[in-house]
Amino acid sequence: MSENSTDVIVIGGGTGGYSTALRAAHLGLDVTLVERDLVGGTCLHRGCVPSKAMLHAAELVDGVAEARERWGVKATLEGVDWPALTATRDDIVSRNHRGVEGQLSRAGVTVVRGTATLTGPRGVRVTDAGSTGGAGVQGWTARRGIVLATGSRPRTLPGLEPDGQHVVTSDDALFAPGLPKSVLVLGGGAIGVEYASFHRSMGAEVTLVEAAERLLPLEDEDVSRQLTRALKKRGITVLTGARMLDAHRVDARRADARRVDAATGGGPGIEARVRPARGAETVIAAERLLVAVGRVPVTDGLGLAAAGLTTDARGYVPPADLSTLSTAVPGLHVVGDLLPPPSLGLAHASFAEGLLVAETLAGLPSRPVDYAAVPRVTYSSPQTASVGLSEAEARAAGYEVAANVMPLTATAKGMVHGQGGMVKAVAERGAQGRVLGVHLVGPHVSEMIAESQLAVAWDASPADIAQHVHPHPTLSEAVGETFLTLAGRGLHQHA
Ligand code: FAD
Repeated sequence: MSENSTDVIVIGGGTGGYSTALRAAHLGLDVTLVERDLVGGTCLHRGCVPSKAMLHAAELVDGVAEARERWGVKATLEGVDWPALTATRDDIVSRNHRGVEGQLSRAGVTVVRGTATLTGPRGVRVTDAGSTGGAGVQGWTARRGIVLATGSRPRTLPGLEPDGQHVVTSDDALFAPGLPKSVLVLGGGAIGVEYASFHRSMGAEVTLVEAAERLLPLEDEDVSRQLTRALKKRGITVLTGARMLDAHRVDARRADARRVDAATGGGPGIEARVRPARGAETVIAAERLLVAVGRVPVTDGLGLAAAGLTTDARGYVPPADLSTLSTAVPGLHVVGDLLPPPSLGLAHASFAEGLLVAETLAGLPSRPVDYAAVPRVTYSSPQTASVGLSEAEARAAGYEVAANVMPLTATAKGMVHGQGGMVKAVAERGAQGRVLGVHLVGPHVSEMIAESQLAVAWDASPADIAQHVHPHPTLSEAVGETFLTLAGRGLHQHA
Protein backbone atom coordinates (compact mmCIF):
# COMPACT_ATOMS: atom_id res chain seq x y z
CA MET A 1 0.00 0.00 0.00
CA SER A 2 1.42 3.41 -0.99
CA GLU A 3 1.47 6.05 1.79
CA ASN A 4 0.72 9.68 0.97
CA SER A 5 0.01 12.89 2.81
CA THR A 6 -1.91 16.04 1.96
CA ASP A 7 -3.43 19.02 3.78
CA VAL A 8 -7.08 18.14 3.26
CA ILE A 9 -8.82 14.93 2.20
CA VAL A 10 -12.35 15.27 0.85
CA ILE A 11 -14.33 12.03 0.65
CA GLY A 12 -16.97 12.29 -2.06
CA GLY A 13 -16.92 14.44 -5.19
CA GLY A 14 -20.54 15.66 -5.30
CA THR A 15 -21.53 19.32 -4.97
CA GLY A 16 -20.56 19.38 -1.29
CA GLY A 17 -17.23 17.67 -1.86
CA TYR A 18 -16.05 19.39 -5.00
CA SER A 19 -17.00 22.87 -3.74
CA THR A 20 -14.97 22.20 -0.58
CA ALA A 21 -12.03 20.93 -2.63
CA LEU A 22 -12.05 23.86 -5.08
CA ARG A 23 -12.29 26.56 -2.42
CA ALA A 24 -9.63 24.91 -0.23
CA ALA A 25 -7.28 24.61 -3.23
CA HIS A 26 -7.92 28.23 -4.21
CA LEU A 27 -6.91 29.17 -0.65
CA GLY A 28 -3.56 27.48 -1.16
CA LEU A 29 -4.18 24.13 0.54
CA ASP A 30 -2.97 20.84 -0.87
CA VAL A 31 -6.23 18.96 -1.47
CA THR A 32 -6.98 15.33 -2.31
CA LEU A 33 -10.49 14.40 -3.37
CA VAL A 34 -11.53 10.74 -3.30
CA GLU A 35 -14.49 9.77 -5.50
CA ARG A 36 -15.54 6.22 -6.29
CA ASP A 37 -17.80 7.12 -9.20
CA LEU A 38 -17.92 10.41 -11.10
CA VAL A 39 -17.14 13.88 -9.76
CA GLY A 40 -20.33 15.91 -9.77
CA GLY A 41 -22.18 13.33 -7.70
CA THR A 42 -25.94 13.00 -7.42
CA CYS A 43 -26.84 16.53 -8.48
CA LEU A 44 -24.95 16.41 -11.76
CA HIS A 45 -25.45 12.78 -12.77
CA ARG A 46 -28.76 11.67 -11.21
CA GLY A 47 -30.43 14.72 -9.67
CA CYS A 48 -30.74 18.45 -10.32
CA VAL A 49 -29.19 18.68 -13.77
CA PRO A 50 -30.68 15.72 -15.68
CA SER A 51 -34.10 16.13 -14.04
CA LYS A 52 -34.26 19.81 -14.93
CA ALA A 53 -33.15 19.08 -18.48
CA MET A 54 -36.07 16.64 -18.76
CA LEU A 55 -38.46 19.12 -17.19
CA HIS A 56 -37.40 21.68 -19.78
CA ALA A 57 -38.39 19.21 -22.50
CA ALA A 58 -41.69 18.66 -20.67
CA GLU A 59 -42.32 22.41 -20.78
CA LEU A 60 -41.82 22.34 -24.56
CA VAL A 61 -44.37 19.53 -24.86
CA ASP A 62 -46.89 21.49 -22.77
CA GLY A 63 -46.15 24.54 -24.91
CA VAL A 64 -47.43 22.77 -28.02
CA ALA A 65 -50.87 22.29 -26.47
CA GLU A 66 -50.88 25.85 -25.16
CA ALA A 67 -49.84 27.19 -28.56
CA ARG A 68 -52.70 25.38 -30.26
CA GLU A 69 -55.38 25.85 -27.64
CA ARG A 70 -54.73 29.43 -26.51
CA TRP A 71 -52.84 31.18 -29.24
CA GLY A 72 -54.14 29.83 -32.53
CA VAL A 73 -50.71 28.49 -33.43
CA LYS A 74 -51.48 25.47 -35.58
CA ALA A 75 -49.01 23.18 -33.84
CA THR A 76 -49.36 19.44 -33.37
CA LEU A 77 -47.19 17.16 -31.33
CA GLU A 78 -45.97 14.17 -33.29
CA GLY A 79 -44.50 12.53 -30.25
CA VAL A 80 -41.46 12.47 -27.99
CA ASP A 81 -38.29 10.76 -29.15
CA TRP A 82 -37.02 9.51 -25.77
CA PRO A 83 -33.55 8.50 -27.01
CA ALA A 84 -33.13 11.98 -28.57
CA LEU A 85 -34.36 13.66 -25.39
CA THR A 86 -32.00 11.66 -23.20
CA ALA A 87 -29.11 12.25 -25.61
CA THR A 88 -29.48 16.04 -25.23
CA ARG A 89 -29.85 15.64 -21.46
CA ASP A 90 -26.76 13.43 -21.26
CA ASP A 91 -24.76 15.83 -23.41
CA ILE A 92 -25.55 18.65 -20.95
CA VAL A 93 -24.52 16.40 -18.06
CA SER A 94 -21.27 15.32 -19.68
CA ARG A 95 -20.30 18.87 -20.64
CA ASN A 96 -20.87 19.90 -17.03
CA HIS A 97 -18.91 16.88 -15.87
CA ARG A 98 -15.95 17.81 -18.03
CA GLY A 99 -16.27 21.35 -16.65
CA VAL A 100 -16.03 20.15 -13.04
CA GLU A 101 -13.09 17.86 -13.87
CA GLY A 102 -11.35 20.78 -15.60
CA GLN A 103 -11.92 23.11 -12.65
CA LEU A 104 -10.53 20.57 -10.19
CA SER A 105 -7.52 19.95 -12.37
CA ARG A 106 -6.80 23.67 -12.89
CA ALA A 107 -7.11 24.27 -9.13
CA GLY A 108 -4.48 21.57 -8.54
CA VAL A 109 -6.79 19.17 -6.65
CA THR A 110 -5.54 15.58 -6.71
CA VAL A 111 -8.51 13.43 -7.65
CA VAL A 112 -8.19 9.81 -6.57
CA ARG A 113 -10.65 7.34 -8.04
CA GLY A 114 -11.64 4.78 -5.42
CA THR A 115 -13.59 4.05 -2.26
CA ALA A 116 -12.39 5.80 0.88
CA THR A 117 -12.55 4.32 4.37
CA LEU A 118 -11.51 6.21 7.48
CA THR A 119 -8.70 4.53 9.39
CA GLY A 120 -8.57 7.18 12.13
CA PRO A 121 -9.27 10.88 12.72
CA ARG A 122 -6.64 11.87 10.12
CA GLY A 123 -6.24 8.70 8.06
CA VAL A 124 -7.97 7.28 5.00
CA ARG A 125 -7.49 4.09 3.03
CA VAL A 126 -8.52 4.17 -0.61
CA THR A 127 -9.30 0.90 -2.32
CA ASP A 128 -9.43 0.44 -6.08
CA ALA A 129 -7.46 3.66 -6.32
CA GLY A 130 -6.97 4.31 -9.98
CA SER A 131 -6.70 7.68 -11.59
CA THR A 132 -3.54 8.91 -9.90
CA GLY A 133 -0.83 7.06 -8.12
CA GLY A 134 -1.60 3.76 -9.82
CA ALA A 135 -4.13 1.06 -9.07
CA GLY A 136 -4.45 -0.77 -5.78
CA VAL A 137 -4.70 0.46 -2.23
CA GLN A 138 -3.49 3.87 -1.12
CA GLY A 139 -3.08 5.20 2.40
CA TRP A 140 -3.57 8.94 2.94
CA THR A 141 -2.91 11.16 5.95
CA ALA A 142 -4.49 14.61 6.25
CA ARG A 143 -2.39 17.29 7.94
CA ARG A 144 -5.30 19.75 8.37
CA GLY A 145 -8.46 17.73 8.21
CA ILE A 146 -10.88 15.38 6.50
CA VAL A 147 -14.20 16.38 4.99
CA LEU A 148 -16.99 13.82 4.76
CA ALA A 149 -19.15 14.45 1.68
CA THR A 150 -20.51 11.02 0.79
CA GLY A 151 -24.05 12.26 0.15
CA SER A 152 -27.21 10.23 0.01
CA ARG A 153 -29.09 7.63 -2.02
CA PRO A 154 -32.79 6.98 -2.62
CA ARG A 155 -34.73 5.41 0.22
CA THR A 156 -36.33 2.15 -0.89
CA LEU A 157 -39.28 0.22 0.51
CA PRO A 158 -38.68 -3.06 2.33
CA GLY A 159 -39.98 -5.98 0.29
CA LEU A 160 -40.27 -3.90 -2.86
CA GLU A 161 -36.75 -3.58 -4.14
CA PRO A 162 -36.33 -1.49 -7.28
CA ASP A 163 -35.90 -3.53 -10.45
CA GLY A 164 -35.14 -0.54 -12.66
CA GLN A 165 -38.14 -1.31 -14.81
CA HIS A 166 -41.46 -1.48 -12.95
CA VAL A 167 -40.36 -0.43 -9.48
CA VAL A 168 -37.96 2.45 -9.88
CA THR A 169 -36.21 5.17 -7.93
CA SER A 170 -35.44 8.63 -9.28
CA ASP A 171 -32.05 7.19 -10.36
CA ASP A 172 -33.64 4.44 -12.45
CA ALA A 173 -36.24 6.75 -13.99
CA LEU A 174 -33.41 8.54 -15.81
CA PHE A 175 -32.04 5.43 -17.42
CA ALA A 176 -35.29 3.58 -18.19
CA PRO A 177 -35.49 2.37 -21.79
CA GLY A 178 -38.66 4.35 -22.55
CA LEU A 179 -41.49 6.45 -21.22
CA PRO A 180 -44.28 4.63 -19.35
CA LYS A 181 -47.96 5.00 -20.21
CA SER A 182 -48.94 5.07 -16.55
CA VAL A 183 -47.03 5.87 -13.37
CA LEU A 184 -47.81 5.65 -9.70
CA VAL A 185 -45.54 8.09 -7.88
CA LEU A 186 -45.15 7.41 -4.20
CA GLY A 187 -44.08 10.52 -2.31
CA GLY A 188 -45.28 14.10 -2.69
CA GLY A 189 -42.03 15.87 -1.84
CA ALA A 190 -40.05 17.84 -4.43
CA ILE A 191 -38.68 14.79 -6.30
CA GLY A 192 -42.05 13.00 -6.44
CA VAL A 193 -43.88 16.13 -7.57
CA GLU A 194 -41.29 16.86 -10.27
CA TYR A 195 -41.44 13.34 -11.69
CA ALA A 196 -45.26 13.29 -11.54
CA SER A 197 -45.30 16.57 -13.45
CA PHE A 198 -42.76 15.33 -16.01
CA HIS A 199 -44.58 12.09 -16.76
CA ARG A 200 -47.94 13.87 -17.07
CA SER A 201 -46.44 16.25 -19.64
CA MET A 202 -45.17 13.19 -21.50
CA GLY A 203 -48.73 11.89 -21.70
CA ALA A 204 -48.77 9.28 -18.91
CA GLU A 205 -51.66 8.60 -16.57
CA VAL A 206 -50.20 9.73 -13.25
CA THR A 207 -51.29 9.03 -9.68
CA LEU A 208 -49.39 10.83 -6.93
CA VAL A 209 -49.71 9.35 -3.44
CA GLU A 210 -48.53 11.26 -0.37
CA ALA A 211 -48.88 10.11 3.25
CA ALA A 212 -48.98 13.62 4.70
CA GLU A 213 -52.13 15.68 4.49
CA ARG A 214 -50.71 17.79 1.67
CA LEU A 215 -48.11 17.83 -1.09
CA LEU A 216 -44.82 19.54 -0.21
CA PRO A 217 -45.76 19.29 3.46
CA LEU A 218 -42.83 21.46 4.57
CA GLU A 219 -44.02 24.40 2.48
CA ASP A 220 -46.63 27.06 3.25
CA GLU A 221 -50.17 25.66 3.12
CA ASP A 222 -51.15 28.04 0.32
CA VAL A 223 -48.30 26.64 -1.79
CA SER A 224 -49.52 23.07 -1.29
CA ARG A 225 -53.10 24.10 -2.03
CA GLN A 226 -52.27 25.97 -5.23
CA LEU A 227 -49.89 23.30 -6.46
CA THR A 228 -52.38 20.48 -5.81
CA ARG A 229 -55.13 22.35 -7.60
CA ALA A 230 -52.88 22.97 -10.61
CA LEU A 231 -51.66 19.36 -10.80
CA LYS A 232 -55.23 18.05 -10.59
CA LYS A 233 -56.22 20.45 -13.36
CA ARG A 234 -53.48 18.92 -15.47
CA GLY A 235 -55.08 15.50 -14.98
CA ILE A 236 -52.85 14.10 -12.23
CA THR A 237 -54.71 12.10 -9.59
CA VAL A 238 -53.45 13.42 -6.26
CA LEU A 239 -54.12 11.33 -3.15
CA THR A 240 -52.94 12.98 0.07
CA GLY A 241 -53.21 11.58 3.58
CA ALA A 242 -52.99 8.28 1.70
CA ARG A 243 -51.03 5.15 2.55
CA MET A 244 -49.77 2.56 0.13
CA LEU A 245 -50.58 -0.65 1.99
CA ASP A 246 -48.73 -2.97 -0.34
CA ALA A 247 -47.72 -3.33 -3.94
CA HIS A 248 -46.70 -6.23 -6.08
CA ARG A 249 -45.45 -6.79 -9.56
CA VAL A 250 -47.99 -8.23 -11.94
CA ASP A 251 -46.93 -10.68 -14.57
CA ALA A 252 -48.68 -10.20 -17.91
CA ARG A 253 -49.11 -13.95 -18.25
CA ARG A 254 -51.21 -14.16 -15.11
CA ALA A 255 -54.98 -13.83 -15.37
CA ASP A 256 -55.12 -11.13 -12.73
CA ALA A 257 -52.88 -8.98 -14.89
CA ARG A 258 -55.71 -8.11 -17.25
CA ARG A 259 -56.56 -4.86 -15.51
CA VAL A 260 -52.93 -3.85 -15.45
CA ASP A 261 -52.60 -4.62 -19.13
CA ALA A 262 -55.55 -2.36 -19.82
CA ALA A 263 -53.91 0.43 -17.86
CA THR A 264 -50.49 0.05 -19.35
CA GLY A 265 -51.25 -0.93 -22.88
CA GLY A 266 -49.67 -4.34 -22.43
CA GLY A 267 -46.77 -5.82 -20.55
CA PRO A 268 -46.34 -6.39 -16.85
CA GLY A 269 -46.62 -3.66 -14.29
CA ILE A 270 -47.46 -3.16 -10.66
CA GLU A 271 -50.61 -3.16 -8.59
CA ALA A 272 -50.76 -1.22 -5.35
CA ARG A 273 -53.37 -1.12 -2.63
CA VAL A 274 -53.81 2.44 -1.43
CA ARG A 275 -55.91 3.67 1.47
CA PRO A 276 -56.86 7.30 0.82
CA ALA A 277 -57.63 9.79 3.60
CA ARG A 278 -61.32 9.48 2.84
CA GLY A 279 -63.22 6.81 1.02
CA ALA A 280 -62.59 3.18 0.31
CA GLU A 281 -59.33 1.37 -0.20
CA THR A 282 -58.43 1.35 -3.87
CA VAL A 283 -56.18 -0.72 -6.13
CA ILE A 284 -54.05 1.30 -8.51
CA ALA A 285 -52.54 -0.37 -11.53
CA ALA A 286 -49.65 1.23 -13.33
CA GLU A 287 -46.81 0.32 -15.63
CA ARG A 288 -44.31 1.88 -13.27
CA LEU A 289 -44.11 2.60 -9.54
CA LEU A 290 -41.72 5.46 -8.86
CA VAL A 291 -40.63 5.42 -5.24
CA ALA A 292 -39.75 8.93 -4.07
CA VAL A 293 -40.04 8.56 -0.30
CA GLY A 294 -36.89 10.41 0.65
CA ARG A 295 -33.17 9.81 0.72
CA VAL A 296 -30.80 8.16 3.19
CA PRO A 297 -27.28 9.31 4.03
CA VAL A 298 -24.45 7.12 2.66
CA THR A 299 -22.10 6.02 5.44
CA ASP A 300 -21.79 2.25 4.93
CA GLY A 301 -18.18 1.16 4.75
CA LEU A 302 -16.98 4.68 5.56
CA GLY A 303 -15.34 3.58 8.81
CA LEU A 304 -16.89 6.27 11.00
CA ALA A 305 -16.15 4.25 14.16
CA ALA A 306 -12.41 4.17 13.40
CA ALA A 307 -12.41 7.96 13.46
CA GLY A 308 -14.49 8.11 16.65
CA LEU A 309 -17.75 9.14 14.98
CA THR A 310 -21.27 7.75 15.00
CA THR A 311 -24.41 8.60 13.07
CA ASP A 312 -27.61 9.84 14.65
CA ALA A 313 -30.73 7.64 14.72
CA ARG A 314 -31.64 8.64 11.15
CA GLY A 315 -28.19 7.89 9.78
CA TYR A 316 -26.95 11.48 9.47
CA VAL A 317 -23.54 12.59 10.71
CA PRO A 318 -24.39 15.48 13.05
CA PRO A 319 -21.96 18.39 13.39
CA ALA A 320 -20.86 19.35 16.90
CA ASP A 321 -20.61 22.98 15.81
CA LEU A 322 -23.05 24.24 13.19
CA SER A 323 -21.03 27.40 12.62
CA THR A 324 -18.04 25.44 11.26
CA LEU A 325 -19.68 22.10 10.42
CA SER A 326 -16.99 20.37 12.46
CA THR A 327 -17.77 17.10 14.20
CA ALA A 328 -16.87 16.18 17.77
CA VAL A 329 -13.53 14.86 16.38
CA PRO A 330 -11.16 17.78 15.74
CA GLY A 331 -10.33 18.21 12.05
CA LEU A 332 -13.27 16.12 10.83
CA HIS A 333 -15.99 18.09 9.03
CA VAL A 334 -19.26 17.18 7.27
CA VAL A 335 -21.03 18.77 4.30
CA GLY A 336 -24.01 18.09 2.07
CA ASP A 337 -26.66 15.41 2.31
CA LEU A 338 -24.83 13.69 5.19
CA LEU A 339 -25.91 16.56 7.44
CA PRO A 340 -29.20 16.48 9.36
CA PRO A 341 -31.60 19.44 9.35
CA PRO A 342 -31.34 22.43 9.45
CA SER A 343 -29.27 21.53 6.37
CA LEU A 344 -31.69 21.01 3.54
CA GLY A 345 -30.54 18.17 1.29
CA LEU A 346 -30.10 20.66 -1.54
CA ALA A 347 -27.17 21.18 -3.85
CA HIS A 348 -26.95 24.94 -3.30
CA ALA A 349 -26.91 24.41 0.48
CA SER A 350 -24.02 21.95 0.03
CA PHE A 351 -22.08 24.50 -2.07
CA ALA A 352 -22.35 27.00 0.79
CA GLU A 353 -21.32 24.33 3.30
CA GLY A 354 -18.30 23.46 1.16
CA LEU A 355 -17.13 27.08 1.11
CA LEU A 356 -17.60 27.38 4.87
CA VAL A 357 -15.61 24.23 5.65
CA ALA A 358 -12.81 25.06 3.22
CA GLU A 359 -12.41 28.53 4.70
CA THR A 360 -12.48 27.11 8.23
CA LEU A 361 -9.74 24.62 7.32
CA ALA A 362 -7.71 27.44 5.78
CA GLY A 363 -7.93 29.36 9.05
CA LEU A 364 -10.25 32.08 7.79
CA PRO A 365 -13.03 33.41 10.02
CA SER A 366 -16.12 31.24 9.56
CA ARG A 367 -19.44 32.66 8.50
CA PRO A 368 -22.14 30.07 9.24
CA VAL A 369 -24.61 29.07 6.55
CA ASP A 370 -27.85 31.00 7.04
CA TYR A 371 -30.17 28.04 6.48
CA ALA A 372 -33.27 30.15 7.13
CA ALA A 373 -32.48 32.14 3.99
CA VAL A 374 -31.75 29.21 1.66
CA PRO A 375 -34.39 29.07 -1.09
CA ARG A 376 -36.33 25.88 -1.84
CA VAL A 377 -37.60 25.18 -5.34
CA THR A 378 -39.75 22.51 -6.95
CA TYR A 379 -39.41 22.55 -10.74
CA SER A 380 -42.77 21.05 -11.59
CA SER A 381 -45.36 22.72 -13.78
CA PRO A 382 -46.28 24.98 -12.07
CA GLN A 383 -43.06 25.60 -10.15
CA THR A 384 -42.90 26.51 -6.48
CA ALA A 385 -40.16 28.59 -4.87
CA SER A 386 -39.93 29.80 -1.32
CA VAL A 387 -37.62 31.19 1.30
CA GLY A 388 -37.98 31.72 5.04
CA LEU A 389 -40.93 30.91 7.26
CA SER A 390 -44.39 29.78 6.21
CA GLU A 391 -47.29 31.71 7.70
CA ALA A 392 -47.98 28.87 10.16
CA GLU A 393 -44.30 28.66 11.18
CA ALA A 394 -44.15 32.43 11.71
CA ARG A 395 -47.23 32.33 13.94
CA ALA A 396 -45.90 29.30 15.82
CA ALA A 397 -42.64 31.19 16.41
CA GLY A 398 -44.66 33.91 18.16
CA TYR A 399 -44.57 36.64 15.51
CA GLU A 400 -47.49 38.95 14.98
CA VAL A 401 -47.91 38.24 11.33
CA ALA A 402 -49.05 40.28 8.35
CA ALA A 403 -49.49 38.15 5.23
CA ASN A 404 -50.53 39.08 1.73
CA VAL A 405 -51.32 36.88 -1.25
CA MET A 406 -51.40 38.20 -4.78
CA PRO A 407 -52.45 36.02 -7.73
CA LEU A 408 -50.02 36.18 -10.65
CA THR A 409 -52.99 36.59 -12.97
CA ALA A 410 -53.51 40.02 -11.44
CA THR A 411 -50.53 41.12 -13.55
CA ALA A 412 -50.48 41.44 -17.32
CA LYS A 413 -47.59 38.97 -17.64
CA GLY A 414 -49.42 36.50 -15.42
CA MET A 415 -52.37 36.70 -17.82
CA VAL A 416 -50.05 36.12 -20.77
CA HIS A 417 -48.74 32.95 -19.12
CA GLY A 418 -52.26 31.97 -18.12
CA GLN A 419 -51.07 29.40 -15.62
CA GLY A 420 -52.36 30.90 -12.38
CA GLY A 421 -49.95 31.05 -9.46
CA MET A 422 -49.35 33.45 -6.62
CA VAL A 423 -46.95 35.48 -4.56
CA LYS A 424 -47.41 35.21 -0.82
CA ALA A 425 -45.38 37.35 1.55
CA VAL A 426 -45.25 36.85 5.30
CA ALA A 427 -43.91 39.71 7.43
CA GLU A 428 -43.86 40.93 10.98
CA ARG A 429 -46.72 43.31 11.57
CA GLY A 430 -45.78 46.98 11.89
CA ALA A 431 -44.06 49.64 9.80
CA GLN A 432 -40.55 48.31 10.42
CA GLY A 433 -41.52 44.62 10.63
CA ARG A 434 -39.18 42.24 8.82
CA VAL A 435 -39.99 40.03 5.87
CA LEU A 436 -40.13 36.53 7.34
CA GLY A 437 -40.99 34.41 4.31
CA VAL A 438 -41.92 34.55 0.63
CA HIS A 439 -43.76 31.78 -1.21
CA LEU A 440 -44.23 31.65 -4.97
CA VAL A 441 -46.18 29.34 -7.25
CA GLY A 442 -46.29 29.71 -11.02
CA PRO A 443 -44.24 29.66 -14.21
CA HIS A 444 -40.51 30.46 -13.86
CA VAL A 445 -40.79 31.36 -10.17
CA SER A 446 -37.45 29.56 -9.59
CA GLU A 447 -35.90 32.56 -11.34
CA MET A 448 -37.87 35.03 -9.18
CA ILE A 449 -37.01 33.89 -5.66
CA ALA A 450 -33.54 35.50 -5.42
CA GLU A 451 -34.75 39.01 -4.52
CA SER A 452 -36.94 37.59 -1.75
CA GLN A 453 -33.95 35.60 -0.50
CA LEU A 454 -32.05 38.85 -0.04
CA ALA A 455 -35.06 40.43 1.66
CA VAL A 456 -35.22 37.60 4.21
CA ALA A 457 -31.43 37.35 4.67
CA TRP A 458 -30.96 41.12 5.06
CA ASP A 459 -33.91 41.57 7.45
CA ALA A 460 -35.58 43.96 5.00
CA SER A 461 -39.05 45.32 5.69
CA PRO A 462 -41.80 45.27 3.03
CA ALA A 463 -41.28 49.03 2.64
CA ASP A 464 -37.56 48.51 1.90
CA ILE A 465 -38.45 46.32 -1.09
CA ALA A 466 -41.53 48.26 -2.14
CA GLN A 467 -39.52 51.41 -2.74
CA HIS A 468 -37.63 49.68 -5.57
CA VAL A 469 -39.42 49.70 -8.90
CA HIS A 470 -40.04 46.35 -10.55
CA PRO A 471 -40.02 46.10 -14.36
CA HIS A 472 -43.32 46.06 -16.26
CA PRO A 473 -44.66 43.78 -17.56
CA THR A 474 -43.09 40.92 -15.62
CA LEU A 475 -44.20 38.30 -13.13
CA SER A 476 -41.82 39.92 -10.65
CA GLU A 477 -44.17 42.90 -10.53
CA ALA A 478 -46.41 40.73 -8.37
CA VAL A 479 -43.59 40.51 -5.81
CA GLY A 480 -43.24 44.30 -5.82
CA GLU A 481 -47.00 44.77 -5.57
CA THR A 482 -47.29 42.31 -2.67
CA PHE A 483 -44.72 44.26 -0.71
CA LEU A 484 -46.32 47.58 -1.68
CA THR A 485 -49.56 46.27 -0.22
CA LEU A 486 -47.87 45.16 3.00
CA ALA A 487 -46.23 48.58 3.21
CA GLY A 488 -49.69 50.17 2.92
CA ARG A 489 -49.11 51.58 -0.58
CA GLY A 490 -50.67 48.94 -2.84
CA LEU A 491 -52.34 50.18 -6.03
CA HIS A 492 -54.38 47.05 -6.66
CA GLN A 493 -54.83 45.66 -3.17
CA HIS A 494 -55.09 47.16 0.27
CA ALA A 495 -53.63 45.36 3.27
P1 FAD B 1 -23.66 13.58 -3.55
O1 FAD B 1 -23.92 14.49 -4.67
O2 FAD B 1 -24.55 12.42 -3.38
O3 FAD B 1 -22.15 13.11 -3.71
C1 FAD B 1 -21.59 12.15 -2.89
C2 FAD B 1 -20.46 11.48 -3.66
O4 FAD B 1 -19.71 10.70 -2.76
C3 FAD B 1 -20.96 10.54 -4.74
O5 FAD B 1 -20.42 10.94 -5.99
C4 FAD B 1 -20.45 9.16 -4.31
O6 FAD B 1 -20.04 8.36 -5.39
C5 FAD B 1 -19.28 9.52 -3.43
N1 FAD B 1 -18.98 8.54 -2.38
C6 FAD B 1 -19.84 8.02 -1.46
N2 FAD B 1 -19.17 7.24 -0.60
C7 FAD B 1 -17.86 7.25 -0.97
C8 FAD B 1 -16.69 6.66 -0.46
N3 FAD B 1 -16.70 5.89 0.63
N4 FAD B 1 -15.53 6.89 -1.11
C9 FAD B 1 -15.49 7.69 -2.21
N5 FAD B 1 -16.57 8.29 -2.73
C10 FAD B 1 -17.74 8.08 -2.10
N6 FAD B 1 -30.86 19.84 -5.17
C11 FAD B 1 -31.02 21.13 -5.55
O7 FAD B 1 -30.47 22.03 -4.92
N7 FAD B 1 -31.78 21.46 -6.65
C12 FAD B 1 -32.43 20.52 -7.37
O8 FAD B 1 -33.11 20.84 -8.34
C13 FAD B 1 -32.29 19.16 -6.98
N8 FAD B 1 -32.90 18.19 -7.69
C14 FAD B 1 -32.73 16.90 -7.34
C15 FAD B 1 -33.36 15.92 -8.08
C16 FAD B 1 -33.20 14.60 -7.77
C17 FAD B 1 -33.90 13.56 -8.59
C18 FAD B 1 -32.34 14.23 -6.69
C19 FAD B 1 -32.11 12.79 -6.35
C20 FAD B 1 -31.70 15.19 -5.93
C21 FAD B 1 -31.89 16.54 -6.24
N9 FAD B 1 -31.29 17.55 -5.50
C22 FAD B 1 -31.48 18.86 -5.86
C23 FAD B 1 -30.48 17.25 -4.29
C24 FAD B 1 -28.99 17.28 -4.61
O9 FAD B 1 -28.73 16.42 -5.69
C25 FAD B 1 -28.20 16.89 -3.38
O10 FAD B 1 -28.55 17.72 -2.30
C26 FAD B 1 -26.70 17.01 -3.61
O11 FAD B 1 -26.31 16.21 -4.69
C27 FAD B 1 -25.92 16.59 -2.35
O12 FAD B 1 -24.56 16.67 -2.61
P2 FAD B 1 -23.51 15.86 -1.74
O13 FAD B 1 -22.17 16.36 -2.18
O14 FAD B 1 -23.84 15.90 -0.32
O15 FAD B 1 -23.68 14.34 -2.16
